[in-house]
Amino acid sequence: MHPDSKRPTVEYIDPIISAEIPNINEEPELYSLVSEFMIHGPCGAENMNCPCMVDRQCSKNFPKQFCNHSSVDNNGYPLYMRRNNGYFVEKSGVKLDNRNVVPYNKYLLKRYQAHINVEWCNQGSSIKYLFKYINKGPDRATVAVDINTDSHQEKVVDEIKDYYDCRYLSACEASWRIFKYDVHYRYPSVMRLPFHLPNQQQLIYAADDDIDDVLEQPSVAASMFTSWMECNKINKDARKLTYVEFPTKFVWKANHKLWKPRKIGRSIGRIHSVSPKLGEIYFLRILLNKVKGPKSFEEIRTVNGEEFPTFRDACYALGLLDDDKEYVEAIKEASHSGSGFYLRFLFATMLMSDSLGRPEFVWENTWQLLSDGILYNQQRTLKSPGLTLNEDQLKNLTLFEIEQILLRNNTSLKNYNKMPYPDTDMVSSSTNRLITEELDYDIPILKKEFDRMFHALTNEQRNIFIDIMTTVNDKKGGVFLCMDMVEQAKPFFGRRYLQQLDVKVI
Ligand SMILES: [Zn+2]
Repeated sequence: MHPDSKRPTVEYIDPIISAEIPNINEEPELYSLVSEFMIHGPCGAENMNCPCMVDRQCSKNFPKQFCNHSSVDNNGYPLYMRRNNGYFVEKSGVKLDNRNVVPYNKYLLKRYQAHINVEWCNQGSSIKYLFKYINKGPDRATVAVDINTDSHQEKVVDEIKDYYDCRYLSACEASWRIFKYDVHYRYPSVMRLPFHLPNQQQLIYAADDDIDDVLEQPSVAASMFTSWMECNKINKDARKLTYVEFPTKFVWKANHKLWKPRKIGRSIGRIHSVSPKLGEIYFLRILLNKVKGPKSFEEIRTVNGEEFPTFRDACYALGLLDDDKEYVEAIKEASHSGSGFYLRFLFATMLMSDSLGRPEFVWENTWQLLSDGILYNQQRTLKSPGLTLNEDQLKNLTLFEIEQILLRNNTSLKNYNKMPYPDTDMVSSSTNRLITEELDYDIPILKKEFDRMFHALTNEQRNIFIDIMTTVNDKKGGVFLCMDMVEQAKPFFGRRYLQQLDVKVI
């Protein structure tokens, strides 16, 4: 996308997307369009039969929260401005306010006069989403075929016969495909860059070719990889690039087996992954991501002027091996395209193959990536979209998932020295919605409320409070009876202990 077309910050949301009911006097036309097309519900307690209701909850999470300003949450999802300004729309006798507005664009709504949900999705993970979407397959609809039966006879319901899983193609989609238009395209093109150990390039020759003739051909020695090093010998600009960066500035001329400076277009490189079990070629790959402009294999394994006998030794000299950095890098690289589940599987595979010298180091440096999707799954399982998890809970659930993969492979986290083990009590309580919601504290808000209330205490109340909290802090235990309190003050006073205790538990 052109840089001018990007909308990278939250200030861009409000002029484009609105999630509020317009003022009926200022924008009467928009008001009637929003009321007709962009109001969700009524659902929930007012209308249990609304199609959005799943397990007695709105599957689209309406009504949303009131919100004075648009913002972006920790996961990169937008929270649109929904002010509590008293505007409402009445539907089926229920007053629906800004919390029930489906985000829309004023211009599109006025022009097309239809339900058009517009959302801000400017985030890196959209790429993952986009590609997952493509692989999901075409749209489907469940069609029910009702059989005419005699009304006197009891109707026999055979669900298998009644329901067919059919594919529905609309006229527009059908024509689009008939005319063979692109369903999607990719840009820029990605060039797969082969690499090999010295004298191990692939050759193609016919079965009846004479092997000596084949080996004498000058083109045999030149592979895409070796030509890269040849190009580094003659071109100064080439030496500023790593192998992967090379296609951005150079073009491979297959018929001449040469790299030429790029004049038009854009392309990026990719070198395929190699299993650590294959030894030298694996270490060569690691070096290729670091070394710029080498002119020979020897130069690739030269570090600070010293040539090392193997690629592995060069990796050690560069500090890439003894601390498992390459595995951290591997997980980071995989996180650009792989889901959280894939990453956890990758980490488990690394553990099982005994490749990690310090598994706990790799874990500490990648757990944020490995926990991708855990919070989302937890929110879905507990049907609690606003749920947050603290670092310990998140780590624990991630470790639990990894342990499940290991158990299926007849091993366990317990077999790996220094790897933390999930706290199973915590895992079982985190699958319990009541406990999780109870522990889902918003510490800054609690702290603020506590400070406000603490200042409102009388001296006598403050002394009582301090006495009780000292007993709790010193773990002495005891029973206290508050006498002579004004009836109304009791809940107010009691809340302060609870808040202080909540904060302490955390
Ligand atoms: Zn709903």
